[in-house]
Amino acid sequence: MRISETQIRRIRSILGEDPLTGVPLKNLTSYRVGGPAEVVALPRNLESLTRLLSFARQEDIRYFILGNGTNVLFHDDGFRGLIISPLRMKNLSMEKGLSNTSLIKAQSGTPLSLVVYRACNSGLTGMESLWGIPGSIGGSVACNAGAGGVSVGDLITELELVNADGRNTSFKRGSLSYGYRFFDLPSQSIVFQASFELNSADPDEIQKKLAKFKSLRRSTQPRGFPNAGCVFKNPSPNTQAGALIDKLGFKGTKCGGAEVSSVHANFIVNRNKAKAQDILNLIETITEAAAKRVGISLELEIQIIKPSRNYA
Ligand SMILES: Cc1cc2nc3c(=O)[nH]c(=O)nc-3n(C[C@H](O)[C@H](O)[C@H](O)COP(=O)(O)OP(=O)(O)OC[C@H]3O[C@@H](n4cnc5c(N)ncnc54)[C@H](O)[C@@H]3O)c2cc1C
Repeated sequence: MRISETQIRRIRSILGEDPLTGVPLKNLTSYRVGGPAEVVALPRNLESLTRLLSFARQEDIRYFILGNGTNVLFHDDGFRGLIISPLRMKNLSMEKGLSNTSLIKAQSGTPLSLVVYRACNSGLTGMESLWGIPGSIGGSVACNAGAGGVSVGDLITELELVNADGRNTSFKRGSLSYGYRFFDLPSQSIVFQASFELNSADPDEIQKKLAKFKSLRRSTQPRGFPNAGCVFKNPSPNTQAGALIDKLGFKGTKCGGAEVSSVHANFIVNRNKAKAQDILNLIETITEAAAKRVGISLELEIQIIKPSRNYA
């Protein structure tokens, strides 16, 4: 069912401005692919976000929460329903905590890279290895983004969420579980704000660590073509998906405008005006080959979003 004109008017009154309609998802995602999104709402504050969620639920409107779009793949047919993007909510604050700690509070639309930058330049340690992850705070929590043995979940002390029924709740460290690229958030809830507690450390040491992680990322990841980072999760701590795909001989394999990166085989890059279907075809080919040839069932790290509820 399409979102009706009346429903769009209600969304407008909740937001205090027009929602966007028919925006190409390639403009909202790092892969630069994907057809039109039916309606996109960018709430500016907690109240609008809460009301929007209650409304979507009451009206049984299908919705998807989109941050910076750096870990998702939308189809060429686009998305039927409501995209809620918290990117306009990006307050960031820092306060001194007990002994040598500080507390950083970041709303969901804040770029993770900005939080990392602020932490490192304020002499706070813990986030250095997260440098270069291009997500928003909300998306980074939902995916439990991580690098260099540290993940966002390790650093969170408190999470403020809006539940699917529009209620606000907060969770202290330890009350929600997380693991390798997942965070056990209540279903369909939205991260509104995350708080991180970090320790002070020698600023020179922090800058040294940062330089090490920057150079590692620059030398191991492809640059210059749109992508969504690693496509597959590592099958085990000892088996890297990139090394496996390389061993299967896929580096440089093309489908339409998409290509398995020759720098890092777990990246599929949009080399030349790729369609989402080109990327999906490569994903399918690699998954099948891994299962048939080495008996490994690869799991996706990126999320593929179906165009509609009843899409097979
Ligand atoms: C070049 C490149 C390098 C990358 N390197 C890394 C890396 O080193 N480590 C790593 O872990 N990832 C990496 N990624 C993947 C990606 O950046 C992270 O997963 C990031 O945290 C996703 O954040 P996002 O805002 O883009 O989320 P999106 O892609 O917009 O969404 C991802 C998921 O999070 C959900 N979501 C988004 N916002 C919210 C919210 N406010 N509340 C609830 N759910 C929400 C979405 O519904 C979706 O399910 C990389 C990506 C790229 C392009």
